[in-house]
Amino acid sequence: SSDPLKVAVTGAAGQIGYSLLFRLASGALAGDRPIELRLLEIEPALKALEGVVMELDDCAFPQLAGVQIGSDPEQIFDGVNLALLVGARPRGPGMERGDLLEANGAIFTAQGQALNKVAADDVRIGVTGNPANTNALIAMSNAPDIPQERFSALTRLDHNRAISQLAAKVGAPVTSIKQMTIWGNHSATQYPDLFHATVDGKVAAEVVDDQDWLENTFIPTVAKRGAAIIEARGSSSAASAASATIDAAHDWLFGSADNDWVSMAVRSDGSYDVPEGLVSSFPVVTEDGDWTIVQGLGIDEFSRARIDASTAELAEERDAVKELGLI
Ligand code: NDP
Repeated sequence: SSDPLKVAVTGAAGQIGYSLLFRLASGALAGDRPIELRLLEIEPALKALEGVVMELDDCAFPQLAGVQIGSDPEQIFDGVNLALLVGARPRGPGMERGDLLEANGAIFTAQGQALNKVAADDVRIGVTGNPANTNALIAMSNAPDIPQERFSALTRLDHNRAISQLAAKVGAPVTSIKQMTIWGNHSATQYPDLFHATVDGKVAAEVVDDQDWLENTFIPTVAKRGAAIIEARGSSSAASAASATIDAAHDWLFGSADNDWVSMAVRSDGSYDVPEGLVSSFPVVTEDGDWTIVQGLGIDEFSRARIDASTAELAEERDAVKELGLI
């Protein structure tokens, strides 16, 4: 259809927003289809956001059908087809994990309720702001009329990082790598899986043939890549996070590639013994806005222990937000 796709972005004046908006407006998400941007910020950031909108105007993007900004989620989310929830409260000095969950709880409770009330019937919601999996769980739990499968949290950046690290290790282009999976939480406990990924059709772990590298270099490099980029660049990995946010939304709406899958954190139905109800990353195939968890993969002891450790962390986060009355 050529009606504009209405896309909300929260935290739009932030670092990720600064990379994300221009790519959304230039067609990276929906090609030639016009896009209408709905940009949410907290009151003190609205002035900076006005500056970003001036720059969007100055690009004269042919596909950009309109931009609306504001701090009221019910106004900004009205009729949106896609909501990219990027804004979140970062951990401040001396902030305990509970404080962080509570601050984000308030944000994602309000946004879930607003989406429930005013979003389009076909809305899809992708959460990038951290702790992404649990923020998605909170938003989902506060939007009882939106089907739960419409919520996901971003593990696509981890997925892309894993592809890039593997490609470098085996000296192959990224296009030769398929069926990468990130399991679990978007956190240091995530498990990037080389036992199902393939390089030119061969099992990646066998091509690499180096369990020490897999365990002690690959997994920690992928899991700690964000910190390494902050260390090198002096600020966070905002451009790659924006790029992955678009990759994830693009594939969700328009479908993952044939004979491949992507990683998305979605509500567990108990597949692979991930406790039902946790928002955990799985290998998924997507088509027309729906996702299906890839079934039937064999999970050996090594993978089992790592998936269990990451989902145990998710269960703790869920219990903590339950205790706070957020879900
Ligand atoms: P960024 O735009 O850099 O990051 C936004 C969120 O994305 C953070 O939670 C961050 O997590 C997360 N994130 C996920 N993956 C990555 C990654 N690979 N690299 C970096 N971040 C990642 O933050 P800014 O502080 O620049 O901007 C946030 C904006 O959100 C601010 O403008 C603020 O005003 C706004 N905000 C808006 C709200 C709203 O619209 N209601 C509510 C809260 C905030 P992490 O903290 O772990 O890096």
